[in-house]
Amino acid sequence: MDLKTNKILDTQLVQKNEVRNSYAMELEGLQRGLAKIAEEELQVSHLVTDRHSQIKKYMREVHPEVVHWFDCWHIAKGIFKKLEAVGKKKNCEIIGDWSRSISNHTYWCAMSSEGDGELVSQKWCSILNHVCNVHEGHGNKFPRCEHGDLEDRLWIKKGSKAYEELEKIVKGRLLMTDIKKISPAEQTSGLEAFHKVLCHFAPKFVHYFHAQMEARLLLAALHFNENSTRQQAKNQNGDLIYSVSFPKGRHGEGVAKEVKVKQTFNYIDELFEELIFRREVHSSFAEARAANALENRHRPVPVAQMEQRARKEDIEASHRSRFTD
Ligand SMILES: [Zn+2]
Repeated sequence: MDLKTNKILDTQLVQKNEVRNSYAMELEGLQRGLAKIAEEELQVSHLVTDRHSQIKKYMREVHPEVVHWFDCWHIAKGIFKKLEAVGKKKNCEIIGDWSRSISNHTYWCAMSSEGDGELVSQKWCSILNHVCNVHEGHGNKFPRCEHGDLEDRLWIKKGSKAYEELEKIVKGRLLMTDIKKISPAEQTSGLEAFHKVLCHFAPKFVHYFHAQMEARLLLAALHFNENSTRQQAKNQNGDLIYSVSFPKGRHGEGVAKEVKVKQTFNYIDELFEELIFRREVHSSFAEARAANALENRHRPVPVAQMEQRARKEDIEASHRSRFTD
């Protein structure tokens, strides 16, 4: 996805038996996507992803020319989960009270540092002072907090068990390396929105064969690209319309959401035109099908079939070994 225009540039469908294990599917998809983009003679200068370890290694070793950033939301969500878990431990309940503000702090660190990794890192670690009511002496790039006077909070005592547990999370080795590369501007939230659209076109509880799944993926991309930059709707008085929802994770806290103008479906007309064009050009359905590049592409063996074959081979092998040993 081009995060500036919020448009899907390419989609790649990876079936789990095409790679060693399901963890390797994301890297395979990325490699194919980057190859396709290169084929179209587009140059990728920046890439924003989650912190998938294979992808980190691949980008570092194979594409050092691309600046690789990590999505803020993924980092903040990971931190929030860890804080909530620690907050359930004895004598650490206070961390639970801070977990939302600390995970929100990651967004501020990212947005206010223009990609300066060292500055992000100092801002991030300053939270360990801040929670103890110490607001200066954080580091040379970020000497003091930027907030004004604060009312009294549930400050954490330096050296307490809660503080030590918090320090372990904030200064985690992997996090300290990755937070320097937190994306300063573009985030992958648009892509998450695309995933929701995809779930509509291809619900996860329904099984589709490769060709059908690919068709649904392409349809989802057409629908998304046509509707991804919709404006916010206005009421008769010209005021912007919002809706308020209460997500489970927010424990009753309301979240305001922009209501967009209605979706459009012009891509369906274009597909119909293409259909009629093909009907005119080809004399039969079989001929039209044979001429379709998507129909002729190589497809992996269905997973179920492969598992059956693997099971059969297993049974045969164990049978052989029983009679030959
Ligand atoms: Zn502070």
